[in-house]
Amino acid sequence: MATLALQNIRKTYPNGYQAIHGINLDIADGELIVLVGPSGCGKSTLLRMIAGLETISEGQLNINATQVNNLEPAERDIAMVFQNYALYPHMTVFDNMAYGLKNRGTEKSVILDKVTRTARMLELDHLLDRKPKQLSGGQRQRVAMGRAIVRDPKVFLFDEPLSNLDAKLRVQMRIEIKKLQKELGTTSIYVTHDQVEAMTLADRLVVMNGGVAEQIGTPMEIYNRP
Ligand code: ADP
Ligand code: ADP
Repeated sequence: MATLALQNIRKTYPNGYQAIHGINLDIADGELIVLVGPSGCGKSTLLRMIAGLETISEGQLNINATQVNNLEPAERDIAMVFQNYALYPHMTVFDNMAYGLKNRGTEKSVILDKVTRTARMLELDHLLDRKPKQLSGGQRQRVAMGRAIVRDPKVFLFDEPLSNLDAKLRVQMRIEIKKLQKELGTTSIYVTHDQVEAMTLADRLVVMNGGVAEQIGTPMEIYNRP
């Protein structure tokens, strides 16, 4: 279970460029927040600060009321799913999904159980012996999600995970992601520049522009406004 609190988060890159200008946001346990906005508005920067891949210049990030600004990515109990999948090409689907657990020294029988159950949930159970290049784009994206799910993290971060898929598959996968997220109940932050995707997925949207959150609200509140 995880609640997040972003308090006046700011980012200035080493070259002096201010990418994020003071974002405040409270995220409830189990909520799916979508960060939406045009290219360059700061979505990735914000997500990467939450993941710990980018330093926070000012402000506070709390997870379950504990400040995590200075924690390493691995200490934040967050799993990230990327647009380019970031799968290991030489490893099988099973080993790709098991990788993070193996690194942590998880017992073999537990790994087998978790990977098998997750693969079944994602309809990957018949593909566990394949290498990534023997999979379709949608299957690769499912493996990337599987790898995040087996770790049973407090928070999922999605960085434009569907943008390499064709339009039809994108629609199908976003329905799957929404369903999975609700089943698992894992607090999630999802980045996209696609308004339709944002509207379909989000419990609440953060509409970003030029490094600020211009609007925060449910899809109804934001898109049905007169
Ligand atoms: P988005 O994900 O919404 O496309 P980004 O967070 O990637 O936006 O980028 C926000 C702004 O910060 C952009 O203007 C981008 O050029 C700038 N930016 C991103 N990374 C760096 C960096 N390492 N140094 C300087 N500026 C950066
Ligand atoms: P953990 O839970 O131990 O962080 P991960 O699978 O997320 O397990 O990653 C372990 C390490 O391997 C991390 O340092 C991560 O940045 C790195 N890593 C993960 N995927 C890739 C990849 N496709 N290519 C290169 N490095 C990766």
